Amino acid sequence: MTDPWNPPTEQHSATARLVALDKLCVWHPFTQMKAWCAADHEPLVLVDAEGAVVWDSDGRSYLDGNSSIWTNIHGHRHPGIAAALRSQLERIEHASFLGTTNAPAIELASRLVARVAPASNLRKVFFTDNGSTAVEVALKMALQYWQLTGRADRCHFAAFDHAYHGDTSGAASLGGVGSFFDRFAPIQFQPTRVAGLADLFALPDEETSRLAALIIEPLVQGAGGIRLWPPGLLRDLRAWCNRTGTLLIFDEVLTGFGRTGTLFACEQEGVWPDFLCLAKGLTGGALPLAATLTSQTIFDAFLGEFEELKTLFYGHSYCGNPLACAAALASLDAFETESTLEALQPKIRLLSSLLEELKALPQVRETRQCGFIAGIELAGASGEPLDWRLQTGARVCMAARPHGLLTRSILDTVTLIPPLCITEEQLRTAVHALRLGLESL
Ligand SMILES: *Cc1c(COP(=O)(O)O)cnc(C)c1O
Repeated sequence: MTDPWNPPTEQHSATARLVALDKLCVWHPFTQMKAWCAADHEPLVLVDAEGAVVWDSDGRSYLDGNSSIWTNIHGHRHPGIAAALRSQLERIEHASFLGTTNAPAIELASRLVARVAPASNLRKVFFTDNGSTAVEVALKMALQYWQLTGRADRCHFAAFDHAYHGDTSGAASLGGVGSFFDRFAPIQFQPTRVAGLADLFALPDEETSRLAALIIEPLVQGAGGIRLWPPGLLRDLRAWCNRTGTLLIFDEVLTGFGRTGTLFACEQEGVWPDFLCLAKGLTGGALPLAATLTSQTIFDAFLGEFEELKTLFYGHSYCGNPLACAAALASLDAFETESTLEALQPKIRLLSSLLEELKALPQVRETRQCGFIAGIELAGASGEPLDWRLQTGARVCMAARPHGLLTRSILDTVTLIPPLCITEEQLRTAVHALRLGLESL
């Protein structure tokens, strides 16, 4: 019998060996592993990348249609980010942020604060590793802030239907996608769940007065299915929070760093939160890093003598990782040197017109777009919503692969969320591949 860990090389190509080992040892996120491990499933092993293109182990190239799960901004192996990483590697690759500090993290915090001040009250940056923890720490800061200011009764949170704020238990408690999170209810808290402004405004005073904070994904809900908020909603939310004394958390883990056409989505309505959560695109997509920005007022409430125990007892081993922070600084530089946001505007318009063409297809029920975030919702034979069990969205994405597009669907909404650096020609190619995928239904 062959040893599964060491399949004889003469019988296995390098790719086949990797795939065999993957199926033997790896558990993939958000993946039904029975289908993944099935003999006829051939996962792509990605080995190379440049700009908006990735290559698999057989040398086939694909446009990265979902920015490697919504993270990539300036393209893969961006020269500026790569150079910053190399140079940081020559100095120090990791240093504890508990008890010591480091230059890239300090520079990054000050760059982020300089960027959002004076328009906002955000002045302090707390680093973590991912979007879920960026939200998690905002929850804990909000809760402890109210305890420290004599309002321990403000210990509840409000969140929207269809929201997605991450997978750690606190962040998942706020999630409004029941199929992801309901089974974890025994280890989650129950937020006040609202569908929209009307629900929020209708909450009784007893309930609003006990809210620590309200959380929203500004402009568009991502993982909940690319759902657009009506214009002006953020302004109304801010006014309601001011009136009721509720803290406001913006989860810009997806929408941050140009995704919606501005560096931060909330800038489009001139509204700022009490906590701004950033992750995915923060490093340009090169390394995991997250930042939670908050105000001087929140920060000051935690100041005191050690024995008062006002300290925020929260942190992760890799908080403020110098390599990740160096990548983030280089990404912010690229926004300036490459005028990324200016260059993006015509591409956003091109995406709109390409989506308009897709909308004419009988297989398409609706298209939704916010900047460089697009959702193409599929339709059944007579325009009705599809039975999600058929996994039509996933099948369309698979059918687009041979035409050179890698992307994912959220049930029957196919997403197109390309790196901001994608060229107009590549964008046309990506949408054309999607069209061919749709037509093959
Ligand atoms: C992806 C995402 C998260 C979670 O980020 P992770 O890095 O995957 O933990 C949180 N909020 C939003 C809006 C997201 O899109």
